[in-house]
Amino acid sequence: MKYYAPKGLYDIKPEDMPYWHAVEREVRSTMPLYGYEEIRTPIMEKTEVFARGVGEETDVVSKEMYTFEDKGGRSMTLRPENTASVVRAYLEHKFYGKEELSKWYYLGPMFRYESPQKGRSRQFHQYGAEAIGSSDPSLDAEMISLSTDLLRSLGLEEVGLTLNSIGCPEDRNNYVNQLVEYLEPEKDRLCNDCRARLDTNPLRILDCKEESCQKVVENGPEITDYLCSECQDHFDTVKGYLNQLGLDYQLDPKLVRGLDYYTKTVFEVFSSDLGAQDALVGGGRYDGLVELFGGDPTPAVGFAGGIERLVLLLEELERVEMKKNGLDIYLATLDEETKQTGMELVQELRNGGIRAEIDYLDKSLQGQLGYADRYGAEITAILGPRELTEGEITLRDMETGDQTTVSLDEFRSEITNRLDSES
Ligand SMILES: [Zn+2]
Ligand SMILES: [Zn+2]
Repeated sequence: MKYYAPKGLYDIKPEDMPYWHAVEREVRSTMPLYGYEEIRTPIMEKTEVFARGVGEETDVVSKEMYTFEDKGGRSMTLRPENTASVVRAYLEHKFYGKEELSKWYYLGPMFRYESPQKGRSRQFHQYGAEAIGSSDPSLDAEMISLSTDLLRSLGLEEVGLTLNSIGCPEDRNNYVNQLVEYLEPEKDRLCNDCRARLDTNPLRILDCKEESCQKVVENGPEITDYLCSECQDHFDTVKGYLNQLGLDYQLDPKLVRGLDYYTKTVFEVFSSDLGAQDALVGGGRYDGLVELFGGDPTPAVGFAGGIERLVLLLEELERVEMKKNGLDIYLATLDEETKQTGMELVQELRNGGIRAEIDYLDKSLQGQLGYADRYGAEITAILGPRELTEGEITLRDMETGDQTTVSLDEFRSEITNRLDSES
């Protein structure tokens, strides 16, 4: 073997595809129920879109982006997430002048240079939704409800929700000042990364995975004690809607999310279907982002969910109804002449929506029947020279082994009937 996929990049193989299709189908059918239309942005943008939108000091921008110079000497970046691109598109096409509220969803690959591990690839896939143009707390609740609904429709039963508010930039400033004041004397107990974050991005210390850092933070000040009355009201109203919708949540004052653009509501949705809590979706409000890109102040809220981890979970749970990837009918032929007629018959079946296959490997009849069996054909048809002369074809039920002969004229309707009665 000479060529391998680059480190951290994986092929999604045909055998996994039914799960991917199930997720994609669910996204495409659930989003419109909530009024979201699909938007597709390019997989690369000018680097400044993410530097500005996601934040220079975030891990994503400072460590994890695939950035390169194109042949025109521009700095380009493969998108590490989609919200910044969506906001760029919103402003570029002046949607603020066309619709009062833009509700969009997306689905596609993102790229981050991270250390590869199970369920994490350097090319990963996300689905997500963005609603731009309203600060109404009911929209925050809708986002949360949409993201949990989607997971439940896929068969997850233990879907949980953690919730926090990180307030407006003023609240956060007040809080960060207090946090730094609290952390400064404890500096030596923080990990190297967090010591640096103390100067650049102290909020990120809250979700550091190092145990020593978690211990320090545990007794520190909490953001929810620093919310102004407007942010507190907003948070209370979101919680009120969630109660109304019967959605349980755990409050987590340490939940800040990794990206700079969030304001007010932040949330994560997880599944404990396999015991441990797997975060599958993250989101929140980002009221300042449109303005940061040079637009008028425009409130917005969104979420994104990772597909890799979801697919792993669904595969382990085996709860998705998998439409067998197999065959409806395999048509065995015995020589060049029957193959020619066979090709025509197979084409006719396919045109009628039936999954049909024929021999491409010059196999014997026995070999062809074995192939049909391996690929799960429900029916095998055999067209030999004698049948062809008589204008007939033999049908073999692969489960019972029963054989019957039908005329070529009735072939297609007979196949359709048999498949209908089996499904
Ligand atoms: Zn506030
Ligand atoms: Zn740390």
